[in-house]
Amino acid sequence: MDKFNSIGEKLMDWYSQNQRILPWRNTNDPYKIWISEIILQQTRVIQGLEYYNRFIQRFPTVAALAEVDEQEVLKYWQGLGYYSRARNLHFSAQTIVNEYNSNFPKDYQAILHLKGIGEYTAAAIVSFAWNMPYPVVDGNVFRFLSRLFAIDEPVDTGKGKKYFTELCAELMDQSQAGTFNQAIMEFGALQCVPASPDCSVCPFQAECLAYARKTVALYPVKQNKTRTKDLYLYYFHICDSDSLYIRQRTEKGIWQNLYEFPLIESEIPLSFHQLVKTPSFQKWFPQGRDYDFQLVIEHRKHVLSHRILHTTFYKVALDECPESLDAFTKIPMSDMEQYPVHRLMQILLQSLGPDSD
Ligand code: SF4
Repeated sequence: MDKFNSIGEKLMDWYSQNQRILPWRNTNDPYKIWISEIILQQTRVIQGLEYYNRFIQRFPTVAALAEVDEQEVLKYWQGLGYYSRARNLHFSAQTIVNEYNSNFPKDYQAILHLKGIGEYTAAAIVSFAWNMPYPVVDGNVFRFLSRLFAIDEPVDTGKGKKYFTELCAELMDQSQAGTFNQAIMEFGALQCVPASPDCSVCPFQAECLAYARKTVALYPVKQNKTRTKDLYLYYFHICDSDSLYIRQRTEKGIWQNLYEFPLIESEIPLSFHQLVKTPSFQKWFPQGRDYDFQLVIEHRKHVLSHRILHTTFYKVALDECPESLDAFTKIPMSDMEQYPVHRLMQILLQSLGPDSD
C-alpha cells in the first residue's frame, strides 16, 4: 500500500505543476462535465474546446438542451462525428428534465442508466462534480498503468477493464478522487503518450517496469484489433436551377438523422456501367430522358473507425423535377446550410464550389 500511496502522491504533484487550464476543470456543474466528457470521447482537446464553448454558450443548462429540436443539436455537433453522441445527449437531457425535474441525478447508478453514458463517463461525472471515489479508466489510464506495472492483461476485454479499474481504485486517494482522476488521465495524455514518450523526464522512471525492461512500445496489450470494411458510396447532387434533393438518414448507424444527397451504396466498386444497372439508379433516372452526369469526385477515400469509404460523386442538372425523385426532399439551394450534415457531406458540398451548394 505504501508504494501505491507514493504513486498517487507523485501523480498529484505532477498534476499540480503540469495540468492544462481547461474550462471543464473549473466547474463542478455535472451538466458541463457531462458535455465535456462526451465531446472528448472521440475528439482531441483542441478541437473539443471550440465545440464545448459553442455548445455551452447555446445550451447553458440541461433544460436549455432538452427544449430544442434534435436537428439543432446535430447542427451544433456538425463536424465532430459520431453523431449518436449528440442524439443521446439530447435524449438524456429530456430524461433529466422529465424524470429528475431538471436536476442532474446525484447517484452513480442513476447516471449510468442515462442513454449514452457508460461506466467511464458516469465515474467522471460523480468524481469531478462531487468527489465520489469512482475510478475513471480511459485510454490514457490504460496506457500509463499497463506500462508502469508491465501488465499483459489485454485492455479491451471485460476482464481487463475490471482489472485496471480495481488497480486504479487502489491507487486513488479517496479524499481527492476528482483530482486524482484528472491527474492520472492528464499524465497519460501529456507524459506517458502513445508513441515514444520522453521517459527521461518522467517522475516514474525509477518504478516503471516497461521502461526498465525496454518494452514501453509493447503496452497497452490489445486482444482485438479493429477490423475495417470497405464501402463504396455513389452520391448524386441532383438539381434544377434553384433546388436540390436531399434525404434524412433514418437507418440506425453513425449518421442517423443527418441529411445527405441521394446515395447508392455498394460493398464492391462499381463502374458507371454497373451503377446504371442498380435498382435505385433505374428508379431515379428512368430511361426515356436525357441526363447529364458530371463526375465531380471519383473514389475519394474517407476513413472512419470501422469503415473505409470510397466516394464517387456526380452532379446531375435537370430542367424539371421528375416524379421518380419524389422519395427525396426538394429544398431551395440556399436552405442547405440549415440542415445538419455529416463530414463527408460537407466535403461533397465544398467540392461543388461556393455558388453551387
Ligand atoms: S517511464 Fe516512460 S513508459 Fe514509464 S510511465 Fe514514465 S513515460 Fe510512461
